[in-house]
Amino acid sequence: MAVTVKSAREIDLMREAGKRLEYVHNKMADMIRPGVSTWEIDKYGEKLIREQGCTPNFLNYNGFPASICVSVNEEVVHGIPKKDRILKDGDIVSLDCGLIYKGYHSDAARTHAVGKVSDEVLKLMEVTKQSFFEGIKKATDGAYLFEISNAIDDFVTPYGYGIVEALVGHGIGTRLHEDPQIPNFRQRRKGLKLRAGMTLAIEPMINLGTYEVEWLDDDWTVVTEDGKPSAHYENTILVTTGEPEILTLDRW
Ligand code: MG
Ligand code: MG
Repeated sequence: MAVTVKSAREIDLMREAGKRLEYVHNKMADMIRPGVSTWEIDKYGEKLIREQGCTPNFLNYNGFPASICVSVNEEVVHGIPKKDRILKDGDIVSLDCGLIYKGYHSDAARTHAVGKVSDEVLKLMEVTKQSFFEGIKKATDGAYLFEISNAIDDFVTPYGYGIVEALVGHGIGTRLHEDPQIPNFRQRRKGLKLRAGMTLAIEPMINLGTYEVEWLDDDWTVVTEDGKPSAHYENTILVTTGEPEILTLDRW
């Protein structure tokens, strides 16, 4: 599939989709505390999405059974919400969420601390988030796609963390996952030349220990091979001739 460059009209719709998703994320963040089940987070997130006249794009995507991916501690991504999975003090929880507004998708992820989390894990969360911002500094018209990948790798590697390679970021628009794929680790090639009007979901997934991951028997939940925690941070961005516009984040 060709990489799409969005028209001004499409960009406006994607801005609206992004704004609504940021709202959902901010509301979900407020409910994170020990004692809450991952199922409750999913139900609340779905309600917020539908209240705004949007559709959750993860629900039934390739058969995924929920609207929000809720991944706890060693779960990297695609955690399935469950009534008996209760957040406890010291956990971290990654919420990956997306929605469709008038045919256009947005996609963003945040990792939250539950109660008091160790300094080591807080640092992992902070570096993961910052690596997104380091990566998107390269996302400008005329630059090459893999400059983003290399910038993320350059920032994360000195910390000794494992950068997940099995899952990557992606283009986004009238579909949740469009070309191109966007790795978060160093690439030998330059990749595609970026153009203003491309919309991309950049999403570093960073592990405290090994970069290796495996899939649980549910065939969805991705976990770290060594059982150490993992953090995830994602926004949908618009490439411009200057700094990129973060569509799923107003203030940064
Ligand atoms: Mg996502
Ligand atoms: Mg994504």
